[in-house]
Amino acid sequence: MGGPGVNQAKVEALAVAEDQRFRDDRPRSMEATSRATRTMPRGVPMSWMEELYDHPPLWVSHGAGSRFWDLDGHEYVDMYVADMSAFCGHAPAPVVRAVCERMEAGNQFLLPSADALVVAEALAARYGMTKWQFTLSATQANTEVVRVARARTGREKLLVFDGKYHGHLEPTLGVAEDGRVMPEYTGLPAEVTANLRIVPFNDLDAVERALAPGDVALLLTEPAMTNAGFLLPDPGFHDGLRELTRRHGTLLAIDETHTLVTAYGGLTTEWGLEPDLLTVGKSIAGGVPLGAYGMTEDVASTLRPPADGAAVSGISYDEVATGGTLFANALSMAAARAALTEVLTPEAFTTTASLGGKLAAGLRAHIDRAGLPWSVSAHGSHAFYFFSPQPPRDARGARDTDDPGLRALIRLFLANRGVWESGWWLGPTVSVAHTPQDLQVYLDAVGEFTQALA
Ligand code: PMP
Repeated sequence: MGGPGVNQAKVEALAVAEDQRFRDDRPRSMEATSRATRTMPRGVPMSWMEELYDHPPLWVSHGAGSRFWDLDGHEYVDMYVADMSAFCGHAPAPVVRAVCERMEAGNQFLLPSADALVVAEALAARYGMTKWQFTLSATQANTEVVRVARARTGREKLLVFDGKYHGHLEPTLGVAEDGRVMPEYTGLPAEVTANLRIVPFNDLDAVERALAPGDVALLLTEPAMTNAGFLLPDPGFHDGLRELTRRHGTLLAIDETHTLVTAYGGLTTEWGLEPDLLTVGKSIAGGVPLGAYGMTEDVASTLRPPADGAAVSGISYDEVATGGTLFANALSMAAARAALTEVLTPEAFTTTASLGGKLAAGLRAHIDRAGLPWSVSAHGSHAFYFFSPQPPRDARGARDTDDPGLRALIRLFLANRGVWESGWWLGPTVSVAHTPQDLQVYLDAVGEFTQALA
């Protein structure tokens, strides 16, 4: 552990001291985890809550705006914003009001509510896709997008970029190793890797080779990759993707689940991209479960009613499988209406982008002052620091220059000083609720760390 330009002995000594301090200061969280191991695998209600961090899980009490508090009463400026899902801030007033009102008026009918009209219209206006469908998460939105694309094209193969994350949907759970696609986890069937192609981001030649056989249903990508550091596209990369996918009859889906925080209308609108499908989730309903996917009229025709008589035991087989009992429920829609129309406004994005610019500049200033050979990649409200002099262009570059131990130490050091930062894959984000004072708390803590290393 230590990374280039960093004194290894100093890092190791700091890691031991900070880990001890974290545990000593949080007896209630430690006790909650130990009690939870009796009823929950790994002592948490969802296993990532344990594996996302190298230190023991923190048990949360409540949140307000840009901050949250743990069971031991510590306050944190939240720069992770729950992996982007709390971009509206904690307990945003319009969403709280809408959710309370909707619960009192009944929340689940398996019928469309009037809020759905407003939400679909707001998404159509914002992201430029004409038709919308809803799920409970971005993972489920991507799952349906894959299925719709396969139904539309009659093809099975998928193309994604190395370092991607689009949720735990089985068709994308592979990793590329030595030119071969391998299962990313245990418990996956062989078809996963048989139908998946993975190429480096920013490599149009590799995309062309993967599409050339004419059997790829869908290219699924983030506009800028956010799950292996923050990887920005080279100039012309997206034009190339669109041209190649059209030429080879492959549909193009842009996953804006994370990047929607960087600009009103996401990077799709900011950069004038023309996907066939677009997915969002996480923050669009203020963290209340909701995923959505937009599509062109042409793709939407795939969701037409089944032809008469094409059914076995009452179940249609001439229809693409989408939907779920709780999808598009009245509560999620009420939350999304409030979030989209009252929180995620154009003015809010102007403010977050301006604070985001200060975030990136502040990080660069601390890195320079400490003489560290690191770099910062940033856009809008989001930033990421790499332990390399230049930001890498693809996930291999990000992996080769990363130092997970050092990154884990940084987040531990920050947590001990009242700042919550993300794990290795995502950098800090300024939410709608952050103020210049919050940003200063974050940057001061980062400065204390870089000076401790210098
Ligand atoms: N798409 C992207 C780009 C993501 O980063 C994630 C989650 N990190 C998802 C989709 C899945 O979101 P969820 O876990 O809320 O379904």
